[in-house]
Formats: sequence, structure tokens, C-alpha cells
Amino acid sequence: MEIVLATNNDDKVVEIKELLNDLDVEVLTLKDFPNIPEIIEDGKTLKQNAFKKAKTVFDSTGLFSLGDDTGLEVDALNGQPGVYSSRFAGENVTYDDNVNKLLNEMSNVPDGQRKARFRCVISLVGSGFTDYAEGVCEGEIIKERRGNSGFGYDPVFFVPRFNKTFAEMELDLKNEISHRGLALKKAKEILKRLF
Ligand code: IMP
Repeated sequence: MEIVLATNNDDKVVEIKELLNDLDVEVLTLKDFPNIPEIIEDGKTLKQNAFKKAKTVFDSTGLFSLGDDTGLEVDALNGQPGVYSSRFAGENVTYDDNVNKLLNEMSNVPDGQRKARFRCVISLVGSGFTDYAEGVCEGEIIKERRGNSGFGYDPVFFVPRFNKTFAEMELDLKNEISHRGLALKKAKEILKRLF
């Protein structure tokens, strides 16, 4: 069986492939289908964006497709940047730009009030089939970057129960506890029932 990951993000592909490696599926990505047009993330919710990605790829390829969307919800910013996490600092920005904006906006937020969570929604779309899986990881935003692994907001997302940021974790540990790891575990259960 083949499954297409509806993402161009190499960092995510690495994580998702690792998580699915014990399933008997061939994992393809958008790079295998260069003719699929860019998918604009214009949904108001993570679920809408995840579905749009998976549905567009399924419609183009006829293959079972997996779309995901992630948001960082910061309590002190009333749940922002949320669904806008990839464009927090504007269009066509770098991970660093987004992290800098986050740290700036939170510069006056004291310790103890810096709680945040990553939420990931996965949408699975196949012939006559749509389902969703969600994963959440709780943490807090620290004031300075720590660690060199991972991507995105990882250097400032601190998980107290491991006393590490995501960027200080081995990929195995991040995958075990992360929003995407937890969502994928649920998605895998759905896939196992289907195939
Ligand atoms: P999207 O799911 O690609 O739209 O991701 C939204 C934003 O969250 C992007 O800026 C990503 O860099 C960031 N992001 C998604 N997953 C992670 C993660 O596991 N760690 C850190 N940042 C992430």
C-alpha cells in the first residue's frame, strides 16, 4: 500500500517517516508528485487545513493521503499564533523570524505565565473515506533558545517533565511525546484497521 504525505516540509517528512516505519506502507511525499499545485493554508482551523491538504493530494493522485496542520497555542497571547503559526511574523518568513516575534511579544510575560501547547491535527483521506486524529503536547515558552535539533519553535518550546526543549531532545523522544507523534499514533491505529 502507498500513502502520500501532503507536505513539502522535509523536517516533518523525516519525523513522519520514522513514526510510520513499522507499517507495511510505502511513504511518498509531494516531491514524488511535482505537478500538484501549491496548497494554500487558508482554513480558519487546523482541521480545515489538514483536510484541504489531504483531499487535494488524494484528488490529484487517487492514493491514500495524509495531511497535517500544527499550531502553537500560547496562553499569554490568548491562544495565538494558533492556526497562523507558520506566518506569525508575516508571509515567506523563516523559523527564526517567527521565534523572534514570539520572544518579543512575550518579553514582559513572567515565568509561571508562559504556558503553551502544540496541537497537531491529521486528516486521512482515501476513496470514500475521511478521518481525523489529534495530538497535543503541553509545555512553556522559555525566554532564550536552547538546543540545536528539530525545527520551527522547537528551541523555545520547553517540556518541564523532561526538563528539555524539543530542540534538546533526540528525535525518538520528541516523536514519543510530541503533538505530531501522538496524532500519528492515533492515525496509525486508523490505518491498521483499514489495511
Ligand atoms: P504547519 O503545520 O506546517 O502549518 O506548521 C505551523 C508552524 O508551526 C510552522 O511554523 C512550523 O515551523 C511550526 N511547527 C510545526 N510543527 C512543529 C514542531 O514539531 N516543532 C516546532 N515547530 C513546529
